[in-house]
Amino acid sequence: MNIHEYQAKDILKKYGVRIQEGIVADTPEKAVEAAHQLQEQTGTEWFVVKAQIHAGGRGKGGGVKLAKSFDEVKEKAGAILGMQLVTPQTGPEGKLVRKVLISQDVYYPGASEPKEYYLSITLDRNTSQDVIIASTEGGMDIEEVAAKTPDKIVKEWIDPAVGLQGFQARKVAFAFGLSGNAFKEMVKFVTALYTAYRETDASLFEINPVLKTSDDKILAVDAKMNLDDNALYRHKDFAELRDITEEDPLEVEAGESGLNYVKLDGNVGCMVNGAGLAMATMDVIKLSGGEPANFLDVGGGANAKTVEAGFRIILKDPNVKAILINIFGGIVRCDRVANGVVEAYKQIGDIPVPIIVRLQGTNAEEGAKIIEESGLKVKSAILLKDAAQKVKEVLA
Ligand code: GDP
Ligand code: MN
Repeated sequence: MNIHEYQAKDILKKYGVRIQEGIVADTPEKAVEAAHQLQEQTGTEWFVVKAQIHAGGRGKGGGVKLAKSFDEVKEKAGAILGMQLVTPQTGPEGKLVRKVLISQDVYYPGASEPKEYYLSITLDRNTSQDVIIASTEGGMDIEEVAAKTPDKIVKEWIDPAVGLQGFQARKVAFAFGLSGNAFKEMVKFVTALYTAYRETDASLFEINPVLKTSDDKILAVDAKMNLDDNALYRHKDFAELRDITEEDPLEVEAGESGLNYVKLDGNVGCMVNGAGLAMATMDVIKLSGGEPANFLDVGGGANAKTVEAGFRIILKDPNVKAILINIFGGIVRCDRVANGVVEAYKQIGDIPVPIIVRLQGTNAEEGAKIIEESGLKVKSAILLKDAAQKVKEVLA
């Protein structure tokens, strides 16, 4: 689950990670109120208005603006709220901005120049360990740094049995070239960041940039957090952080029906029980010359209701030219699934694309018979290779 910058910063603050302070707002008037409140709290003279969407690169797309007065806060919040923000991570259609984070300006002048760093923590699947990734090239796209100047990236793997060691946090601070108070602050920052990462069951924390202010404070200017869906049951309070307006509407609808759906770019919709069979089915679609339009696992108890919900979701994708239903009847019998398909078909009315149903397992023959005798535009197959052949025929 992805969350917004303002939510991620709230979490960081609870764990003692210093952040650029901010208050979220959804109207220009509330943005000005937030700025007044922020000035009382922090004494800041200037503000930054930051679009809250689930995508990075907002600065480049015009979603992060400096405001040097309350009037400018109002004007810039008004311009950003409601805009369709396009960044390198949103795709060309962009994302609608519903909230802005009004933040204190932390790039104020002082004894030294403010300096930006890159810091992230994620799971390295190759080593089965969490890894801290640090770079002096803060504020930049880390993929670009990795491609052009890989020597500017430092990685520190963390042994899960002992956790982050003091020397590792110090190594990161050394790699940034810090000394004195900034060094101490950075060690504290990295240590608290790691604790937050562990205790929230996150799969990614990315702080880009981490800022050393002109008076040697270390703080998070940006915060991207990815929380592990499979651990959310341990964090009931995180449920409210979910923003479904940021998610794919079809995936949200599928989730509500208990279906596991991922939209893809192809032309053959598929409905399968079991994730492994779904993956194999997608391979078969490719081998028969099609491209899967989606991944859809209807789960163990496929019935008329789940099949109908599956149909409806698949049919909302205008690219779908055919649907392949591939169900293995184990506990759920094929004749029941076949009846479910026929019933769902009748419920929805005329389905404009050909459907191939492959039922294998318990009562497969009975299932095939029900499909054949239904009089609907549905082809049945028992063997996967027949199903693939039929997909090929309907696409031709
Ligand atoms: P992103 O573009 O989505 O990664 O958003 P960030 O939160 O990283 O902000 C983008 C850029 O805005 C930062 O790299 C800074 O250069 C700038 N910025 C952020 N906060 C401030 C601030 O307090 N003052 C000034 N002057 N610039 C800021
Ligand atoms: Mn950033």
